[in-house]
Amino acid sequence: MFLYLVNTVSIWLCKVGALPHSNIDHAGICPSNPSELVTRIISRLDNLPSSQDAAVQLCTGEVSFARWPCCSLMELLLRYLDVSAPPSTTVLEYLINSTIDQNEKHRLRKLVNDREACGRWLENYWPTLLTALNQFPNSKPDAATLCSLLPKIQARFYSVSSTPMTRSDELQLTVSVVQFLTQNDGKRYGLCSNYLNEIPLGTMLPCFVRSAPSFRLPDDKSAPVILVGPGTGIAPFKGFCDEMAIELHSFRRVNNHFKLRVGFSREKDQRKTYVQDLIREEGRSIPIALMEHGTHLYVCGDVNVAQGVEKAVMAAIKQHYSITEEKAEKFLLTLRDEDRYHEDLFGVLYKTTVLKSCDGNLKTEAGFRNWISSLFN
Ligand SMILES: Cc1cc2nc3c(=O)[nH]c(=O)nc-3n(C[C@H](O)[C@H](O)[C@H](O)COP(=O)(O)OP(=O)(O)OC[C@H]3O[C@@H](n4cnc5c(N)ncnc54)[C@H](O)[C@@H]3O)c2cc1C
Repeated sequence: MFLYLVNTVSIWLCKVGALPHSNIDHAGICPSNPSELVTRIISRLDNLPSSQDAAVQLCTGEVSFARWPCCSLMELLLRYLDVSAPPSTTVLEYLINSTIDQNEKHRLRKLVNDREACGRWLENYWPTLLTALNQFPNSKPDAATLCSLLPKIQARFYSVSSTPMTRSDELQLTVSVVQFLTQNDGKRYGLCSNYLNEIPLGTMLPCFVRSAPSFRLPDDKSAPVILVGPGTGIAPFKGFCDEMAIELHSFRRVNNHFKLRVGFSREKDQRKTYVQDLIREEGRSIPIALMEHGTHLYVCGDVNVAQGVEKAVMAAIKQHYSITEEKAEKFLLTLRDEDRYHEDLFGVLYKTTVLKSCDGNLKTEAGFRNWISSLFN
């Protein structure tokens, strides 16, 4: 197993209601916006409802907004509307009309019409709705109109790290808390991961589940597996290891059959090691395992790293068997056809300065091994 962590928390969800007991591989979490952020946004809006509890009427022209439940402005902005992503062009266009300041109008028009300028703005500030409102302080958007232009908060998926074989009424998630610095040193916080990191114990959490049948341990329990988990790509492998421990009747027996390789790529005081480096360092053992022992390869995490892993595996096969790139590529395709190359991908994460480094105890290989063992106690 290859691992790579940043700042990660373990979350346990207790299932309430009629959720299936098995075949749950991903949980879709519907986060809420931070209330302080919403309060600050509301303070910048015009034509607020008559009272805090009054339901907002969202409609522009003929279009009615039946997709939102009838609720107060606060609830709408807390639970349904995405205010943490950078504002869309439509919102920026609306801000042009809601400011009387000519200089602000000019700057907003530039963002709307000049893609390069807009790109630089995004790169420098990764602006939330509040950032934009603060940068154009004379804009006074109408509350209902602005809300009608905002997108819905999207649910975020998390791989389930537990197995129903041990705790059938609970789901464990392994969540990397996304906090990063923008180019101009502004702090930004990923919506859902920070929401999960901060919700008080016992909070009712809107979520749904889905299965990922192609990312399960092989039916043949004796088949060897290689698990590559950069960052929170480790998430589903915790459940895999639990399952293997049950199959083999104890984690000690898993440990006897288990080789753990750990790499750190973000620690200042350590050599940067990526999972691709670990694959390279393994030399011929990975090509032999895949080509000659029917091993299954599992890769979970960021799309870019997954591509790097594929390249590293292909290079190892090419080198060890002295074959051409085309042949190595063909072999990987066969591996996929035989359902032995499994991927569970998280999408693309941009590389920016990460605010928090990993927990001090996890900075050494020994500390990391202790942490892994503690997962099984
Ligand atoms: C199938 C699937 C399974 C997943 N499983 C897991 C899992 O088990 N554990 C887990 O932690 N995540 C998992 N993810 C990712 C997860 O769904 C979220 O995308 C992640 O938690 C960020 O969401 P957020 O709301 O906190 O951040 P958002 O509010 O969505 O903001 C993150 C934004 O910041 C950008 N960004 C800039 N710099 C960085 C940086 N340094 N790091 C990250 N983002 C940066 C991102 O590109 C993104 O646009 C999974 C995704 C998928 C699709």
